[in-house]
Amino acid sequence: MKCPVCGEDCVKEAHELIERMPSEFLPCPDCSSPVLDKNIPPPPGSYGEPCRCGKRFIDEVYAHLYAILESEGVFSGDEPLREVGTPLVHPGFHMKSPPYLPENSLVLLSRAVEKKVADRMIQEVPEVRAVVKFGNFTPGVIDPDLAMPPQSYELLAGCDIRANIFSSSAGPVVLYQQQSKIHIEFPRWSNPKIDAVEYQVSIGNPVWFVDAFCGVGKLGLIGARMGVPHVVMNDAWYAAAFWAAYNTLVNKEFFRIEDVKILGDYRKMEETPVIRKPLLIAETEGEQEIRVYQGDFRELHTILPAVPVLAALDIFEKRMPEATDRALREWREHVAGEAFIP
Ligand SMILES: [Zn+2]
Ligand SMILES: [Zn+2]
Repeated sequence: MKCPVCGEDCVKEAHELIERMPSEFLPCPDCSSPVLDKNIPPPPGSYGEPCRCGKRFIDEVYAHLYAILESEGVFSGDEPLREVGTPLVHPGFHMKSPPYLPENSLVLLSRAVEKKVADRMIQEVPEVRAVVKFGNFTPGVIDPDLAMPPQSYELLAGCDIRANIFSSSAGPVVLYQQQSKIHIEFPRWSNPKIDAVEYQVSIGNPVWFVDAFCGVGKLGLIGARMGVPHVVMNDAWYAAAFWAAYNTLVNKEFFRIEDVKILGDYRKMEETPVIRKPLLIAETEGEQEIRVYQGDFRELHTILPAVPVLAALDIFEKRMPEATDRALREWREHVAGEAFIP
């Protein structure tokens, strides 16, 4: 599928990534595994060429990136190896051991790097697919009232489209995202939010399921994978709503649908990054109905039918009980059925 960021073939159908999972980051018998201490600078000569299988152990890739940072004068040579940045692998899923990275599999989030150095990393380190300038904030919309202006990290070089694979009892879902626009999430062995959705859907057996703060679509698509006949996903942030729509298409094979019509254009949506009145971004054709909106969750009742709905309100301010209580209260004023905070 054509990548909406770089125009290349970055986006695959779900099964292609899922099939690759077992061996994606495993070494071949010839791979070397120089485990390096992340709290000190790497010793000289800690990296070599990738193995003939095309992979390199992540610590060696980090030592290579460190050498570039040192030769560009960004690092003095006293910084610990971990200062290189946060590694996000593509595709990301729960792993039992550190990865051996194939080509184009690493999105690096770095505080230290600027454009020129990022370009060099992309050119010289084959495992790197993108370098993103990291900041001390969460990208996207972070308050349910939409009052705070959203921010993004800066993509310095490469294409920062990557996927996470989340497992559920109904099977895995593949969630693509543009990493500079979406908060960081690591798929772990267990995911309490997914557990909460599975529990609520299995006890309530809903006809309608709404994921009102859907992000890139994790909980809504799990509901759809569980077979809920009508699923609505919504997010006020354009990059979340767009990727929730795109991920419906990526995971199409798991739903009782014939087609996904994507009505939103990523570049055009960027011009109105946050909107209140729900705007339809995608809808499906077939037995099962999945719709994706960009809008304020408080306006979503205007597009819902007057029937009981199971709603997950995965709001960002979970640690602020007043905010979650208020969101639930506002939702229940307009929509019948069950609402829960996953
Ligand atoms: Zn791309
Ligand atoms: Zn190898």
